[in-house]
Amino acid sequence: MNVLLVYAHPEPKSLNGSLKDFTVKRLEAAGHQVQVSDLYAMDWKASLDADDSFGRPADARFDPSQDSKRAFKEGRQRQDIVLEQEKLLWADTVILQFPLWWFSMPAILKGWVERVYAYGFAYGVGEHSDARWGDRYGEGTLAGKRAMLIVTTGGWESHYSPRGINGPIDDVLFPIQHGVLFYPGFDVLPPFVIYRTSRMDEARFSATCEALGQRLDDLWETAPIAFRAQNSGAYDIPQLTLRDEIAAGQMGFAAHVSQAAHSL
Ligand SMILES: Cc1cc2nc3c(=O)[nH]c(=O)nc-3n(C[C@H](O)[C@H](O)[C@H](O)COP(=O)(O)OP(=O)(O)OC[C@H]3O[C@@H](n4cnc5c(N)ncnc54)[C@H](O)[C@@H]3O)c2cc1C
Repeated sequence: MNVLLVYAHPEPKSLNGSLKDFTVKRLEAAGHQVQVSDLYAMDWKASLDADDSFGRPADARFDPSQDSKRAFKEGRQRQDIVLEQEKLLWADTVILQFPLWWFSMPAILKGWVERVYAYGFAYGVGEHSDARWGDRYGEGTLAGKRAMLIVTTGGWESHYSPRGINGPIDDVLFPIQHGVLFYPGFDVLPPFVIYRTSRMDEARFSATCEALGQRLDDLWETAPIAFRAQNSGAYDIPQLTLRDEIAAGQMGFAAHVSQAAHSL
């Protein structure tokens, strides 16, 4: 299998750096092909702007979506964007690895998403009408591929528990798992989260690698999070709200996860 690891930490000797090295070795030892997009090492350009396509009139008003659409369609995207899109198409599984910074991904990784997820590639795919709102949330260019987060946090596990002050980890990660990964079609596996990183020592590092190694060994067997597909019948279109009888009375992020296997 082909695995793309998109990795965002500025320090190779960090905990994240060690976990990245472990992940690559483990996957390669199991016979998988691995590519790493080490964003800091690549000096990845994080800002989406008018320089992301070539051949546009200098005085033209920059429209982030429409420029992206034209550049993708006409083959005028910058080469760094094209290479990452090719890696995504090559991969069977994509892992995003990062430290949680201000309750989200580091800016460099957010910039990777913004620039690589072009209009026509990750969004604006499929028929858009009042009857069908595109191929997204379970369908799209990256459908059939798996994705998983490896995330480290300073906060304790209890801080991210259902009544923890930071909010439940599933809620904190929802915009990434549901918005960034499920939206363009990925099946999203439960995240691998390492809490309270300041308490890491050799013994805990070794136990963490053991648990992470098991998750990597199980990448192709692990059941994805049961996010409800947009075009599965669970949502009214074009309102895109859950039908009244689906998760009746439930609101918020959890309503978009089915509790029953193979149901809407
Ligand atoms: C800008 C910013 C925003 C942040 N926002 C949040 C937030 O919103 N929520 C939150 O919970 N946290 C937050 N944090 C904390 C952050 O998530 C953690 O600092 C980060 O996850 C730690 O990962 P690291 O790779 O940088 O660890 P490091 O600092 O490199 O290492 C952590 C510990 O692991 C040890 N270690 C490293 N490698 C090994 C190894 N190979 N073997 C054994 N031990 C090792 C180190 O000695 C150290 O004690 C934030 C931090 C920053 C800088």
